[in-house]
Amino acid sequence: MKILVPVKRVVDYNVKVRAKADESGPDLSNAKMAINPFCEIAIEEAVRLKESGNAEEVVAVSVGDSASQEQLRTCLALGADRAVLIETNETPEPLGVAKALKAIVEKESPEIVILGKQAIDGDSNQTGQMLAALLGYAQGTFASEVTIQGNKVEVTREIDGGLQTVSLNLPAIITTDLRLNEPRYASLPNIMKAKKKPLETLSCEELGIDIAPRTETLKVSPPPERAAGIIVENIDQLVDKLKNEAKVIS
Ligand code: AMP
Repeated sequence: MKILVPVKRVVDYNVKVRAKADESGPDLSNAKMAINPFCEIAIEEAVRLKESGNAEEVVAVSVGDSASQEQLRTCLALGADRAVLIETNETPEPLGVAKALKAIVEKESPEIVILGKQAIDGDSNQTGQMLAALLGYAQGTFASEVTIQGNKVEVTREIDGGLQTVSLNLPAIITTDLRLNEPRYASLPNIMKAKKKPLETLSCEELGIDIAPRTETLKVSPPPERAAGIIVENIDQLVDKLKNEAKVIS
């Protein structure tokens, strides 16, 4: 079984992102970049399926500029066998990414594609669903458990107020939720070995796809500043302020 894992290069989750002064987008100059955390969970799950003898090959794929090679090398250090970069200087939207991934799926014929449930930069939560629709594949989104059952895969999904278990025919699309697993760290020997693993670069022209954006971002602005808090002297003062200033109790 071959597993394809799409990974996105995003700003590190520890970085406090600010909007550019002209509100044209987030200011990412000099920001630390990393693998999207949900994609790290996807790589971990694919590598575990390989380690348990359920898969033979794990292929990481990213759609982005040449800097995304850094995140693909990390995936190789975490246990992926090879990587593919679909290189573009556009900032692709989920539909564009899904189209590029569809072309790779048609080329590679994986039995399972494991994506993150969402990328923490755009918070779209769309790519996996769009890819499943474009390919006509079954999908198990928000997975907290994945079990291979012969020519099917069982996915336990985190839904409001509980868990739902679905059985999907292969090939299938899975998106990861936070509790699926705890990703490992890349060891130094594996980082060294990753430098020798294959990383192929393809262009959108070679794949015959158009990933030009369909939407225009009008502005990106920071949330309103919160007023500073105060320390009250006693309970009576607290009750008075809640009643008369905040007006949250009567
Ligand atoms: P989104 O729909 O943008 O929230 O992203 C959901 C998931 O789709 C991510 O966790 C990745 O697995 C995948 N994905 C999104 N954008 C890209 C990209 N540029 N390259 C590769 N995979 C991506």
